[in-house]
Amino acid sequence: MNKQHVAAPEGVHTLRDPDSGLEGLIVLHSTALGPAAGGCRLLHYQDASLMRADAFRLAEGMSYKNALAGRYITAEDVGTSVEDMQAVSEKTRFVAGLPSNSDGPGGDPSPWTAQGVFVSMETLVRRHLSKDLSDCVVAVQGLGHVGHSLARMLHQAGARMIVADVSEQNVRRAVAETGAAVVSAEQILSVEADVLAPCALGAIFDETSIGTIRARIICGAANNQLATPDDGARLARRGILYAPDYVVNAGGIINVAGEYFGWTEKDTQRRIADTGNRLIRVLDHASATGVAPNQAADELARAKIAAGSSLFLADSAL
Ligand code: NAD
Repeated sequence: MNKQHVAAPEGVHTLRDPDSGLEGLIVLHSTALGPAAGGCRLLHYQDASLMRADAFRLAEGMSYKNALAGRYITAEDVGTSVEDMQAVSEKTRFVAGLPSNSDGPGGDPSPWTAQGVFVSMETLVRRHLSKDLSDCVVAVQGLGHVGHSLARMLHQAGARMIVADVSEQNVRRAVAETGAAVVSAEQILSVEADVLAPCALGAIFDETSIGTIRARIICGAANNQLATPDDGARLARRGILYAPDYVVNAGGIINVAGEYFGWTEKDTQRRIADTGNRLIRVLDHASATGVAPNQAADELARAKIAAGSSLFLADSAL
């Protein structure tokens, strides 16, 4: 675990079920703004230290995401589905991402995560490349729940795409629906593109990979994309604009919060559509203070947590 990156959490709970062989962790990073909550990740780790590092990183990222975008309760993440959340709901009411029962928000949050990433990407290419997405090449890494939805939206917007996934089935599905070009999982981070959209796992941008990136903008759904906070500055030095992950991937969580707090669908969608504006405020703060975008987002999120006021319950400005 990178201690510089991960602040001390309020609580760590370990889970062990000898019958099934399940080992797990719940990390509570901060309850300053209300109940701590985060995605439920079901993943096979090679050893317990990797699981611990992932959980600590995710917990901190979730606090910051919520500080800037709202509060939420557990819901789907890598390896879990709406059906899993239904099973969780048999044991606890602190769960969302359940099937939508009316015209309100609910269900699988991933299309809403993709929507927030899409809006952010549209904003960035207009602002920084003076282009529309229809004139852009977008490289998408990971074609699971979010990556697949995002690829469909990009296709509809007329963007050309290069895609990769370790799952051949997911690649085939995306190609059939969007006609995207395919490269290997090893190549995707370094293809020539306007935008690189990481939608697989985290810690993919480090000293080595950053040296090979040829995209001008990074804007994707994966949580904790930077291996260390310094990698944000490293990207900036290479002239690559990094859209902080937890700012642009908050759409799913906003939908989950809408379900939990009983917002109308219209209000929930308005907050998701506002993701581009929140991103601009973060980037403006980065420019004004001369720090990398990831640091600017962390500073704004920490200030919110320190002030103990939730953005969502107050208003939608940063
Ligand atoms: P998912 O499990 O449905 O999809 C992940 C995809 O990445 C899979 O298709 C997998 O085969 C692929 N993959 C794994 N390793 C890869 C590699 N090295 N190269 C290329 N592809 C690879 O997960 P998801 O729900 O789509 O989430 C994707 C990312 O977005 C995760 O980091 C998750 O934490 C983050 N995220 C998801 C949501 C959501 O609403 N689901 C919300 C916020 C953030």
